[in-house]
Amino acid sequence: QILIEQTDPELFTAIQAENARQEHHIELIASENYASPAVMAAQGSQLTNKYAEGYPGRRYYGGCEYVDVAEQLAIDRVKQIFGAEAANVQPHCGASANEAVFLAFLKPGDTIMGMSLAEGGHLTHGMALNMSGKWFNVVSYGLNAKEEIDYDAMERKAHETKPKLIIAGASAYSLAIDFERFAKVAKAVGAIFMVDMAHYAGLIAAGIYPNPVPHADIVTSTTHKSLRGPRGGIILMKSEFEKAINSAIFPGLQGGPLMHVIAAKAVAFKEALAPEFKVYQQQVLRNAQVVAETLTQRGLRIVSGGTQSHLMLVDLRAKGITGKEAEAVLGSAHMTINKNAIPNDPEKPMVTSGVRIGTPAMTTRGFKDEEARATANLVADVLDNPRDAANLDVVRAKVAALTSRFPVYR
Ligand code: PLP
Repeated sequence: QILIEQTDPELFTAIQAENARQEHHIELIASENYASPAVMAAQGSQLTNKYAEGYPGRRYYGGCEYVDVAEQLAIDRVKQIFGAEAANVQPHCGASANEAVFLAFLKPGDTIMGMSLAEGGHLTHGMALNMSGKWFNVVSYGLNAKEEIDYDAMERKAHETKPKLIIAGASAYSLAIDFERFAKVAKAVGAIFMVDMAHYAGLIAAGIYPNPVPHADIVTSTTHKSLRGPRGGIILMKSEFEKAINSAIFPGLQGGPLMHVIAAKAVAFKEALAPEFKVYQQQVLRNAQVVAETLTQRGLRIVSGGTQSHLMLVDLRAKGITGKEAEAVLGSAHMTINKNAIPNDPEKPMVTSGVRIGTPAMTTRGFKDEEARATANLVADVLDNPRDAANLDVVRAKVAALTSRFPVYR
């Protein structure tokens, strides 16, 4: 960064401002985390210079002997973490991991089944404007009256429509997903069963959320959310699917792999294999429970009745504030959050009646039960009185006191 200051002061100023924002704001976005300095060092290394189309030992470029080591370390470690038979660590992101699965097994017009975006699913699971929704015939499942995944309806729809691919996994669902049940349904209707574990991967690595690997044909993930690695994607699979998936990623979908990012994935996977990672993830889970309990005590409703993961959806209607306004006022009080639709949301998707809160980032900076409770109380303080500038000043000062005790990057 000292170099950037000399060569590009304009950009340096933006990076410095973002660094300060990350230090001084409490990060509550469920899909974000703080990668370790070792992960960032690998990502900033000379491996960015290397072309390595192909796979370890089978490249289309010379000089790949050292990047082969990096990629093989990433593959071996991620297989060990999740107990997978085979792994591809080249997807540039979570969306391209999912697209590679579609490319490997589907043709345009085929029927796929995924969780509806409005009820907690991801864009790439069949949303109308996404490639998955444009190219495939999408059948969605959602939640029942208790705001739990409606497994019975999912099973019925699967038998009626015979999808070629069934996707389990979500971006805004707080409870444990019954992957075994999905697997049985997929088997009964002859569908390939894919799990997108992007949100839960860190908890799964630590053994405190159900592992989909024994049940699914293919498991995709991002590496940058609860797993706390660099931005990127991975695909885990049974050996029988390895050839199809590998050729869907390259040459099907991508060109040269990002070897610096793959090296950073290897570093993150080593960190995830260390005993401290389990302790970290247990605190992520604990902090989420503390936040949910505290917000409930302060008069807010947690969708699905609580959380069994790192995240929760909060119904704001009792406070008479929309998700859009809550995101803005919490941001001005230095707590970063994203608005999120709640089930049967009366508001438009750009407005919403809810926010999503996650605890991976706060836990990385060292927040434990006490700080998680304090954070939830500060969120509630803002929501109780969102249009009072003096209230926001008081909360901002309390946030500053808290964040200064827990620097992210010392
Ligand atoms: N899958 C799920 C469940 C996600 O929540 C996300 C990101 O939010 C993705 C896939 C996409 O990941 P990326 O943003 O890396 O493409």
